[in-house]
Amino acid sequence: MNIVFGTYLDSLTWSDKPAAIGELRLGPMGMLGLLETRLGLTGNYVHPARRISQYLQRMQSIDNPGAWFHRSFSADPWSTAKQMLSWRDTLVASGWQDTALPSTSARLQALGDIEAVDLPLSAGREDRLQSIALSLKSGIPAHIETLTLSEPRSILPAIWQQILALLAGQGTHIVESAVPAPQGTTTNLSAIQHALGSLNPPHIDTGDDSLLLISAETEWDAAETLARYLASAPADNSTTTLICQGSSDILDQALQRHGLPQIGASSDSPWRTALQILPLVIANCWEPVDVNRLVELLSLPSPPIRYFAARHLLSALASEPGVGGEAWKNAMEKIGSDYQTKVLDQASGNRKLPSAAEYVQQLEAFLHTERFDPATGIPYRALEERCQWLMEFLGAYADRDSLMAEALSQTSELLHVSASMNHIPRITLERMLDSVIGVGASNPLVQSHAAAYQVVHTPGQVLSPTSTTIWWNFTSNHSGSAAWWSSQERQSLAESGIILEETSAHSLRESRSWQLALQNTSKRLLLFAPRQICGETAYPHPFWDEIRSVALCGENHSHEEAILTALTRHEHQLQQQGRWSLAERRMSLTALSTADLPEPEESCTVQAGAIALGKHLSYSQMSMLIGCPMNWTLKYHAGLRAADAHSLPTGNQMIGSLCHRIVELLYAEPVKQWKPDKAAQKARELFHELTRSMAAELLLEGHEVEIRRYERAIVEAVRKLVDAICRLNLKVEEAERKLEGTLQGTPFIGFADLILRTPAGEPFVLDLKWSYATKYRKEEIEQGSALQLATYNWLMASEEPNTHTGYFLLAQGELLSDSPLLGDEALPSAVPLDTTWQMGQLSFVQSLQGLQSGRVEARGILERKLLENSDVDKLDKLQSERREEMARNKMLYIKPPCGYCDYATLCGMGGSL
Ligand code: SF4
Repeated sequence: MNIVFGTYLDSLTWSDKPAAIGELRLGPMGMLGLLETRLGLTGNYVHPARRISQYLQRMQSIDNPGAWFHRSFSADPWSTAKQMLSWRDTLVASGWQDTALPSTSARLQALGDIEAVDLPLSAGREDRLQSIALSLKSGIPAHIETLTLSEPRSILPAIWQQILALLAGQGTHIVESAVPAPQGTTTNLSAIQHALGSLNPPHIDTGDDSLLLISAETEWDAAETLARYLASAPADNSTTTLICQGSSDILDQALQRHGLPQIGASSDSPWRTALQILPLVIANCWEPVDVNRLVELLSLPSPPIRYFAARHLLSALASEPGVGGEAWKNAMEKIGSDYQTKVLDQASGNRKLPSAAEYVQQLEAFLHTERFDPATGIPYRALEERCQWLMEFLGAYADRDSLMAEALSQTSELLHVSASMNHIPRITLERMLDSVIGVGASNPLVQSHAAAYQVVHTPGQVLSPTSTTIWWNFTSNHSGSAAWWSSQERQSLAESGIILEETSAHSLRESRSWQLALQNTSKRLLLFAPRQICGETAYPHPFWDEIRSVALCGENHSHEEAILTALTRHEHQLQQQGRWSLAERRMSLTALSTADLPEPEESCTVQAGAIALGKHLSYSQMSMLIGCPMNWTLKYHAGLRAADAHSLPTGNQMIGSLCHRIVELLYAEPVKQWKPDKAAQKARELFHELTRSMAAELLLEGHEVEIRRYERAIVEAVRKLVDAICRLNLKVEEAERKLEGTLQGTPFIGFADLILRTPAGEPFVLDLKWSYATKYRKEEIEQGSALQLATYNWLMASEEPNTHTGYFLLAQGELLSDSPLLGDEALPSAVPLDTTWQMGQLSFVQSLQGLQSGRVEARGILERKLLENSDVDKLDKLQSERREEMARNKMLYIKPPCGYCDYATLCGMGGSL
């Protein structure tokens, strides 16, 4: 068997010949596997995370306050064990076997102590290489005839040098392949090739394009340029080698646009959706609840929770962003009944399913009741339950979805590595998870196509001469730094036969691999270097510094600019007057015809009678229909709404709901009357009781100031509300009373926040608002446009003709009303509320008739167009004029709610606000 071996040859095809027998190209992992097979050393190798767990147990068994690693180990046991294990493996790779380590440093002593612990530690890659060396030493033959090295033996890691020497001792013919000699001297490429070897200054021809760095603003521009180059002379591509460094996602799209085969190189990533299931389940084990993580778990495309259950919980979170509150309990009830009808009643076969009560109980436990303190940690039993549940879910997909299979194996691995612990603190569990998931997985949907050009993934894989080499993504990709060892440690280890590799050795191998790509290219080397990748600044590959310094060697400053210009191109420079050209390849470009974006329409037409009112109406619907019929149509007729996952209330909206609930609970007992201080005290208690279910984000770390601020604000709001109620001698009769009426033959429903009773026995409807828009609410009452108050007045009128109404602004503690009960503080109102209602009703009917005739007006756009064609220069002036004109016609004007409308992109208003 003839083997080509090199540091960068893992993942390379076995041979590049049309037909070959007994030939193999192997990197370190491939060679390790082959030698183990030949020497009878194959075994079951464990996940790296399991070795960390084993090493952690060894460290735990000897940990004491005097141990060198004690402080780090106490703070973060997993990361400390991981780091120490990597040092231990480095020593093993450098020749450490059973010998005692020198005691020149506390670190070496600690490593020696851990090694002496009699607890299992599975073999890592370095142990396996040592076993190979031992077997070869004992004379077991590997039967390898020829081994060709793609790099000099002297720059390989010590353990490989030892194995190669042992193989040579068995008769394996070891050949070191030399870097090919440069061909000719007439091009810039060959001049650089000569100069890199000889250090003689090269002659750079400013008219030559055999070696070019092609820069582009983004990876998209660079990909388009590369695809044009390949597409402009497809017949010549058979002598081209393409180094695809990293992912080819964007390049593949450009290649496909030009009818070329795609490369199909996908980078490993831990962020693939299926690989997020386990981390999100783990992130939802902790107290306090992080609603954002909960929403992420419930919104996964394949959540481990049934879709209907995830939907109910998401909609509960959209109204109360926390767990265990009213909305949450209602959602759990719906889940129970849906589970009965959609799952149990339709189940067939013998599979035993949990009952609806068991199903709900398990969800409650995993998402709400069984949460753990991050510092104390999750008990292993609870983690096991969650992992088993997850494995059952993932197992159902594993045979047809490779990413789900990967997630399944990661879950099982996590369970395995944590099995020795009683309680696992959050930090340790998350570190374990990082180790288990590692670099993640590649995209299984990406396919490679057969292509005329040869594709490799690192420059070190360009093993044979090629006419043209294209290096895609010629950018710096720092591969991490080697462990640091003091010179004292190095020296004492060397005296014990453990030779640590110099820190420069890795760089030497890398640099050699870059040169391999350059020296194997005979005609043209094109280096594609985008300046931005995924929006982040990217820098040219460090090999460019070598090429650049060689090219400029011996040149005076005035000539440097010309040389660099000769060696670089920006993709903009490649196209001129409909022609594109790069390095002897050309293409004609055809300009795309452009079309103007359509102007947004102020209305659209639908079939007359197609739009009708729904089963019931409310104040919100009425005001929306008057403000903008398009908004109402999209929301109530078409049923379009933002996803629950994107509607998590926060800030004022969340606090407003919480404050409403506190007031509702304060007055839940009929005719309960409070004094301001007692009410404030109760509000404080309720605030703390309800935060977890209605404003859980405030309990997260970093929100301490915010929670105190909101607590103070809500307690003060309640104190002022109760104070106002007492001052006006009002009695609270009911909170959240449902009021009903009929408009245009359709039931009309409203909920009054508080129904109060005046000393004269008249009702006072109070609407609570958490907003800072005092001016706007005052104006509403003064102008007679407070449609919400007019609606309460109308709904109450059938039973109680003399109803008072008002807003209580919780954040400011201010009562706004035109009721004479307020004395001097009563606001003057231009028109009585029943007139406001009549006007509102007329506007509503007019807007509704417009809809029923088939005309759906987008009033925000209509007003914008009116503004463009009028003498008025500001929108609010125009709106005032429209308000006055409608008032003259006994109708109510409501401003289109464009500022907080979800449909601005749909109607065309988006971007113009
Ligand atoms: S953005 Fe304005 S005009 Fe468009 S639908 Fe919403 S409210 Fe109407």
